[in-house]
Amino acid sequence: MPGRTTGQLVNAGGQPILILKEGATRTRGEEAQTMNIEAARAVANAVRTTLGPKGMDKMLVDSIGDVVITNDGATILKEMDIEHPAAKMVVEVAKAQDDEVGDGTTTAAVLVGELLRESEELLGEDVHPTVIAAGFTLAARKAADLLNEMAFAGDDTTLKHVAMTAITGKGAEMMLTKMADIVVEAVQLVAEDVDGKKTVDPDDISVVRRYGASVDDSKLVHGLIIDKEKVHPLMPTTVKDAKIALLNVGLEIEKTEIDAKIEINDPGQMQSFWDEEERRLEAIADKIIASGANVVFCQKGIDDLVQHYLAKAGILAGRRVKKSDMKRLEKATGGKITDTLEDISQLGYAGLVQERKVGDNEMIFVENSKNPKAVSILLRGSIEHVVDEMDRAVNDALKVVSLTLENNQVVAGGGAPETELAMGLRDYATTFGGREQLSVRAFANAMEIIPKTLIENTGGDPLDKLVELRSAHESGDRNAGISVDGDIRDMLALNVVDPLRVKLNAVESATEAANMILRIDDIIAASSETPELGGEGPEMY
Ligand code: ADP
Ligand code: MG
Repeated sequence: MPGRTTGQLVNAGGQPILILKEGATRTRGEEAQTMNIEAARAVANAVRTTLGPKGMDKMLVDSIGDVVITNDGATILKEMDIEHPAAKMVVEVAKAQDDEVGDGTTTAAVLVGELLRESEELLGEDVHPTVIAAGFTLAARKAADLLNEMAFAGDDTTLKHVAMTAITGKGAEMMLTKMADIVVEAVQLVAEDVDGKKTVDPDDISVVRRYGASVDDSKLVHGLIIDKEKVHPLMPTTVKDAKIALLNVGLEIEKTEIDAKIEINDPGQMQSFWDEEERRLEAIADKIIASGANVVFCQKGIDDLVQHYLAKAGILAGRRVKKSDMKRLEKATGGKITDTLEDISQLGYAGLVQERKVGDNEMIFVENSKNPKAVSILLRGSIEHVVDEMDRAVNDALKVVSLTLENNQVVAGGGAPETELAMGLRDYATTFGGREQLSVRAFANAMEIIPKTLIENTGGDPLDKLVELRSAHESGDRNAGISVDGDIRDMLALNVVDPLRVKLNAVESATEAANMILRIDDIIAASSETPELGGEGPEMY
């Protein structure tokens, strides 16, 4: 048992030497391995039930009671607030997968778990961890080759199908085709040709959420939506031929840092103090009016009096606009964000700026701008949780569609490629002898956790169906996978496709994490300042 010691004793020439701080714990060898493997597997298991179109959702409640309901692997793992260092590596894999390719996060986590489960068996048979890791590395390389061989270039409909595959299972089923269409159109609108290659800047697409309406009311807007209302009721609601000032400077009198004391002896002095303030605020408004702008987006605050003057001059203004939106406005309208009122020379342009009611509140729409490569997806849904989960689904879809547009290589989904991998890698294993063969074979077996889990999550019998699935592949049906109803079907006929890169990345990062965990045989943990967990009663910090 690892225990809190009074320091570690190392016997050198009969003389005990203290090498670790008091209270540090040390766990070594098999025990360390088992601990890490168990912790990592526990985390991987936690997301298994969410995999695929029939995956269940999880409800996560944080320490202050905020609730997240989701099916998204990366989100679940992030919200779980995991402590154990090896378990955290699984979280890191999911996070990296999310950052790099946007989808396949659950797949990656589940693969790590299964690779480790297979390793445990090999460790039990006295195969050394470095031999297992070496075998896994070989197998992962071969897996990448096999995936590349499986991949094919899609056609016009492929973008929509990868979007649908990414969204499936994330609570947007009713609106699946509509959401997929919106995502594909958005990506196509912002895609740019760079040296004959399409590239997509994800920042060009903003997703704006507002609950209180049906998901059906979600739509693509050719322009930007700024989630702010005009600051003054007398400002215009519609401005055509908008000349837009983008300000990163407060339109108010800056409060002095030091508490200034002003001594006022008679009412006249008070009046002149106010007059002076008013004059300065009017001067601020005048500078904006003089710039020729008829729309102002300000990243900071706008004083009531300045609002009044701007309204009188027929200017529409929004304040406390998010930095990310300011950047988008800059790109879309061709204006330049300025942080001084002395230089508002570079105004942006949009054919139409209009405040519109969306749900209970207004938002400002900026349309027909100079650069049409700015689009927004307005997501609607009945309640906040629905809109949040849709947002995650749409973000996954935006990423996979962008990937597919940039590099048109896809593979069948629904566990078909993993089944092919298992078969191909079992063949590959026979080219090795002894323990290496065992490790490559273990890796091959681990791949089948994906179809197996998809079967389980549709309520099917994993053993029977897996045998059926294997024999379909053995008879040459390379795209056979698990349908939403748990049947063995041709995934391409059902339009279930995933980007090649999502699969490549999942296999590679899962292997790296499993290998890293396997290679650890010594855990030295410094004593924490906090008392040992697991005692009775509330923890006191
Ligand atoms: P991940 O976080 O790994 O993307 P998901 O819960 O999104 O996890 O599930 C992804 C898996 O579900 C992929 O293997 C994908 O091919 C599969 N899948 C998605 N839609 C379907 C479908 N309609 N039929 C069968 N499999 C599907
Ligand atoms: Mg997914």
